Parts: sequence; C-alpha cells; structure tokens
Amino acid sequence: MTGRQAQPRSTHDLRSSPADPIQAPGTPEPAWEAWPGLRDLPTADPLAALPTRPDRRPRVLVVAAHPDDEVLGFGGTLAVLAASGVRLRLVSVTAGEASHPHSHTPVAPNLAAVRTRELHEALARLGAADVQSVALGVSDGKVARHERELAGQLAELLRDCDLCVAPYSQDLHPDHEAAGRAALAAGAARSVAVWEYPVWAWHWAAPGDGRLPWHRAARLPLPFAAQERKRAALACFRSQTEPLGDRPGDAAILPPAELAHFCREFEVIWR
Ligand SMILES: [Zn+2]
Repeated sequence: MTGRQAQPRSTHDLRSSPADPIQAPGTPEPAWEAWPGLRDLPTADPLAALPTRPDRRPRVLVVAAHPDDEVLGFGGTLAVLAASGVRLRLVSVTAGEASHPHSHTPVAPNLAAVRTRELHEALARLGAADVQSVALGVSDGKVARHERELAGQLAELLRDCDLCVAPYSQDLHPDHEAAGRAALAAGAARSVAVWEYPVWAWHWAAPGDGRLPWHRAARLPLPFAAQERKRAALACFRSQTEPLGDRPGDAAILPPAELAHFCREFEVIWR
C-alpha cells in the first residue's frame, strides 16, 4: 500500500497538500457496510472471465505497485484462482521500501527485503506459493517517472496471459495510478482485459461517491475458505500493520480501521 504517514508527513510519494485525501481521516468501514449500493453491485466470476482450453491452463497477470496491494485488493480472488489451477504471474513494481521514510528504527533501511519476504509468506497462505513472481525494482514513490517503460514491460509480461489485474488508475496514490495506467496501456496493446482493484479509494471515497466508476464495478464474492486465507495472508504484513517503533514516523500504515476495508466477504473491481 505505502502512503499514509503519521506526522511528519512523507513528501516524496504523496500528494501532500493540506487537502491530501489519503492523509485525511478516511471513511470508516461500517459506512461502506451500511451502503446498499455495495451489496447490490453485479457479481463477476473470475473463472468465467478466463478461456477454457484443453491444452493450456489460463494465466492471469497481477500487478502491484507495492508488495501488499495485490493481497489487499485482490487476495481472496487470488486464492480462488490458485485453488482452481489458474497460473499466476505477479509483478511487484516497487519493493515498497519507502513506506516509513521518517523512521529511524533498524528495520527501516531493510524494508524492501522485509516487505518482499512478507509478500511471499502471504502468497503461501493464499495457496499461491508457486506464483511466478517478477520484481521490477522501480523506486517506491517514483513509478510515474517510469510509466512508459513500465507499460512496455507489462505488455511483454502479458504476452501469454488472459487477464490483467492492476491497481485502480484513479486511486489517488501516484504509484497506484501510474501502475494502473501502465497496465491499461499494456492491456490495450495486447487486447487483454484489465480489471482494476481499488485500495486507497475505500479510504478517501464515500458510499455513492461520484468520483468512482460504479457503472463498471463488480463484486467478486469470496468463499469462506478464501476469506480465511486472505485474513491469514494480511496478517503477514507486520511491517505495515504494526508500528515499527514508538516514534511518529514509525506508525502503522495499515491500522485496524484501514485493514477492515479488506476483510469483507467480497472484493470489488472495475472492469
Ligand atoms: Zn500500495
């Protein structure tokens, strides 16, 4: 996820204006729970979106700006796909090393390795340990500077894929948006459908928010086993869910109120 900072604010990877919607208090999950619009979205079946060929298992390319985005926004469906024998290729655009730029704890300089390890633990808990994992090593917070090159890399990685899943291109986090736009460009170049998953939108948007494309939203219902796998996977991201230390720059990026958006019985994508 990377992005929400306790004081002092990060200035390198966020729109840190006083009106920064990511830094502002977010919409609590009970407000989303109470909104019928979310319950009434049409449902999509990820397996039905994939071709069935006797000679080849389908493959899905899943893009994340930071190691945890894909589990937050799409982890339950990843578990469903993995359990169904769908091949998964996972792209970590950055290693998420800039989640705590003001922390002086010993772990802070090692966040890239820590977060990569957490992601692989999480994938194992999703039942997706054999995912093909690609780390592109773009600097956390600077994805937009490499957007064109990223679109080319994703188009290459999509060459044998049937679906692309990527961060929402209007998620109001610059890295998420750049990764999402690059995925949309790559999908268009390969004529492969792109599903966008929101992450920060659940924080800054409100039920019925006219800024979100509800007309192309779909719910992905999660079987109970997939919900359980996702909860177990989310617990792996301790560098994000727990404070690194006791100073303001060590604060958790994903406190329980934020994690609550990702513990639903369903996931939502724009298609
Ligand atoms: Zn992220």
